This record gives sequence, C-alpha cells and structure tokens, in this order.
Amino acid sequence: MHILIAEDDEVLADGLCQSMRQQGYAVDHVSDGQEADLILRGAQPFDLVILDLGLPRLDGLCVLRNLRERSCRVPVIILTARDGVGDRVKGLDLGADDYLAKPFVLAELEARVRALIRRGQCGVNPVYSCGTMTYDSVGRRAAINGAALELTTRELSVLEALMSRTGWVVSKEQLLERLYSYSEEASGNAIEVYIHRLRKKIEPAGVNIRTIRGLGYIIEKSV
Ligand code: CA
Repeated sequence: MHILIAEDDEVLADGLCQSMRQQGYAVDHVSDGQEADLILRGAQPFDLVILDLGLPRLDGLCVLRNLRERSCRVPVIILTARDGVGDRVKGLDLGADDYLAKPFVLAELEARVRALIRRGQCGVNPVYSCGTMTYDSVGRRAAINGAALELTTRELSVLEALMSRTGWVVSKEQLLERLYSYSEEASGNAIEVYIHRLRKKIEPAGVNIRTIRGLGYIIEKSV
C-alpha cells in the first residue's frame, strides 16, 4: 500500500508519516498543493491520499478537483479545520471519501485508513502478483503457488515496497524509510542483506529482484 500525505504543517506531517509507516504502508510526503498535484499526475500510482485542504500554492480542494477530473478514483481522506464545515461539504461533493477535522487523534486516522483500504478497493487491487508469487497488502501475506512464504517483519516490509510497485524502480532511500520505524540503525548495507535473503526465498516463484545501479531495485519475473 502506497500512501501520499499532502500536509504543510511539518510537525503534523512528521507524525502522520511515522504513524503510516508504522502501519506498514509506503509513504510519500509533499508540503504544498502544487507538488501534490504534480506527483498525482505522475506515473507512480497511489493507493490512498491524505489531503490537507489548507495547502500553500494550490489549495487541497483544487488538488482534489483536478484529481477527479482526470477520473482518478484513488481514495482520498481530507483534513480540514475544525470549523471548516463548508470545506468538508465541498470536499465530499468533489469526491473525497472521508474527512477528519483537526485536531484529531492518530488512532482514528489509522482506523479510517484501514476502513477505506478494506472497502475502497474499487480500482485498487490489494493483491499484487509476480511470477507465481502473490502479495496480499491488506493481510500482509506473501505466498508462492498459494503456500505461505515465511518472512521476517523487515523482509516483509521490503517485499511489500517492491511488490506494490512491480515494474517500477524502488530506491534504497524508499526502502530505508520503510525500515526506519523498526530500526534506527537501518543502513544501505542492511537493505542489501534483506534483498539478498529475499532473492533466495522468492526464487522458486520465478521472481527476481534486479539491482539497477545507482537507482535502486525492481522486482520482476525471472528471465
Ligand atoms: Ca495546512
């Protein structure tokens, strides 16, 4: 699961990113509306967007309107000011799936994200596959030919990051971000170790993790 967080309040954004990473999601963060608009027009698909409405440069409602005008159905949770009833109504009318009024408790946001991922599977396929391997991003389980694959939590995080972007290069930094919540000593070397172990475990599925020098890794069917 890959989540975009668009929030300009640095402290709140840090808390949101950390909380979502601890839930096992891959997270990208942008701090203004134009950046959000740009990244959402990019090739990288997201499974969920957490969108603050009060963003500099381009407000969240415009970002949302642009998104829906492109017929992009990615689930969106909007964050609004406590007294922003008008904004909430506009946001929902423009196609937001849920909202939270600030200040909110992170546990509530986490629950709403889970609920949206569960029911919002319209357009989002929570089960990724490559070769004979599947990865269920809701249950966080990998399997080869239907048989569960034994993985450590960290291996699972790395695999999830790669599987949710099958065919795309995932950088070492993105993988480090995923592991950061588990270990403050996560390093590039550690990533190489996990990749090495994963390669062995997923080889029977006819799947390889290819190193793209200087860029990162890509998961793909073995040639
Ligand atoms: Ca704001």
